[in-house]
Amino acid sequence: MQLSHRITHLLDGGSDGWEIFNRARAMIAAGTPVTELTIGEHDIRTDPSILAAMDASARAGHTGYASVPGTDALRDTIAARVEDRTGVTTTRDNVLVTTGGQAALFAAHMAVLDPGDRALFIDPYYATYPGTLRAAGARAEPIPTHSREGFQPTRSALMAACPGAASLLINTPNNPTGAVYAPGTTDAICEAVREHDLWLISDEVYDTQIWNGTHLSPRARPGMAERTLVIGSMSKSHAMTGSRVGWVIGPAEAISHMINLSTDTTYGVPGFVQDAALFALEEGAPLEDKIAAPFRRRRALTEARLASQNTIRMIPADGAMYVMLDIRTTGLSGDAFASALLENHHIAVMPGESFGHSAAGHVRVAMTTDDDSYDQALATLVSFAQELAARSS
Ligand code: PMP
Repeated sequence: MQLSHRITHLLDGGSDGWEIFNRARAMIAAGTPVTELTIGEHDIRTDPSILAAMDASARAGHTGYASVPGTDALRDTIAARVEDRTGVTTTRDNVLVTTGGQAALFAAHMAVLDPGDRALFIDPYYATYPGTLRAAGARAEPIPTHSREGFQPTRSALMAACPGAASLLINTPNNPTGAVYAPGTTDAICEAVREHDLWLISDEVYDTQIWNGTHLSPRARPGMAERTLVIGSMSKSHAMTGSRVGWVIGPAEAISHMINLSTDTTYGVPGFVQDAALFALEEGAPLEDKIAAPFRRRRALTEARLASQNTIRMIPADGAMYVMLDIRTTGLSGDAFASALLENHHIAVMPGESFGHSAAGHVRVAMTTDDDSYDQALATLVSFAQELAARSS
């Protein structure tokens, strides 16, 4: 039987970029210890106080179908948090609760794209982006960025790509690069989408992980609220990756249509999980800071570790739980370097190539293991790169 073109072409003939991760997991399953610095997931579990709230809600009977757009209380709390942090008036009608940020990305693109539309995204990119755009029937078009510019998109690249496109997807703080978009980058993005009448999808799931600078939500810029859909999530901010709670913020009309999509796909998020998310959000910034703190520490460790060498160059990592390292002096591609590091030293990092052409010759290191093993793994990575560089020169 014939499968749909849509489903068989989600990866467009490419790989899903997770080979190293899968190999590391197979090694672990076979009994070989591996330091895993691959997936964007905390080394701590969800806080017991959040689990207690989840348990209490379930035991109190919140185990039936929950309200599809999200509970009123959770939508109100998300709206208040966004309004408080951005100054943009936001009510529950601007909020749809989804099964994680990933479902929010899918809903947002389903809402603004017709089959055949050009949907832009910034390269390097989070691995699911092209597939998500294709799932909505669009032509996924990367806008390249450059390592030497800290992987920030330039005004000229944006202005060249935007004419005739339907949407632009951005992500700051950025996975995989750790970049936080500068005010000038945000200005250029807003100008480009306003001038060429695009929707902007702003993926802000790392907004609580800022090490340098400030998180700027483009929805707060003049003329942007009506054309911006913001993606949020509890996954990174509250170490709740497995709970699958995220949201889209946008104009009420767009949200009302996305609610229909939720009815036809997930039929909402479990009520006891929403109550746990509500509890976690009500804890406010102190809990978010506590969850971000290990990454702040490990980023400083990374800087210290790389300070006295010049084989590896670190892209300014101003936010998120990753650092992107330029390993081109080794003469290897990111793929080959990551593969050799796994083989020889049992350390798993992601090849830059898994995140697009712009990150070739780089590796992404997720700062997701305890400080000591992280620092030790980095030391090994650096001396391995130095050996390779010495051999290739
Ligand atoms: N956007 C980015 C940039 C991500 O890195 C991730 C997860 N790694 C997501 C969205 C989706 O996260 P979730 O579905 O867990 O909210």
